[in-house]
Amino acid sequence: MFLNFFIVILLGLIFGSFLGVFTYRFPKKIPFVKGRSFCPKCKKQINWFDNIPLLSFIFLKGNCRHCKKKISFRYPLIEVISSISFVLIYFNYQADLFKVILFLFFYLLIASVVIIDLEEGIIPDELIFLGLTVSFFYIIFFDNANSFQHLLGGFSLSSFMLLLHLLTKGKGMGLGDVKFTLFPATFLLFPFNILWLFLSFLTGSFVGVILILVKKAKFGKEIAFGPFLGVSFLITLIWGQTLLKWIMPFF
Ligand SMILES: [Zn+2]
Repeated sequence: MFLNFFIVILLGLIFGSFLGVFTYRFPKKIPFVKGRSFCPKCKKQINWFDNIPLLSFIFLKGNCRHCKKKISFRYPLIEVISSISFVLIYFNYQADLFKVILFLFFYLLIASVVIIDLEEGIIPDELIFLGLTVSFFYIIFFDNANSFQHLLGGFSLSSFMLLLHLLTKGKGMGLGDVKFTLFPATFLLFPFNILWLFLSFLTGSFVGVILILVKKAKFGKEIAFGPFLGVSFLITLIWGQTLLKWIMPFF
């Protein structure tokens, strides 16, 4: 039990470290498989012992060994969030190893989309397509009986988002967000897909109001919606059952 816990935390840190590099390099079209990590300021290669997730950042006190410039806080942050997410997914689904692996994959995919959307303001089509492909494989091989429901959910919720996009003339909802809706809406079954979209709008408007209050955003100015779609999808995967139990008595 304790050993499992330790391994999952460690795996989360390691995959989180990859995630930090991948989301930095992918939108900039830098190859992420080949090539060692380098300092973006002085371009010096980072030694393996300075590239240990989280620990190196703490030992180097957040500075590059060579040029002493600050290392972006995004790296340890992504590593810690990944580690926490790995632990949450593992302990919610440890009885079903297949689901653990599938949901960890979805975590990495969704986290990539969210980070890239936050930093670059784009939702990469490649990642959305990958999510859709994995969802279709899952449906064909593991949930064929519900395939019609899956497709109906994907089609109707994406159409709903497309309608919002067209009605607001693209200001309320970007086309990237409409595309982003495709695969979680197809993967999740009713009522989880509705719960997911509901959570996205709830968290989105909540954070939107806060940003307006602290004057970080203006009313009518668009706030990226992708991160809310992504985070709500992960919340639905991890706590969907529990949340539905809380919400159901109100209907
Ligand atoms: Zn440097």
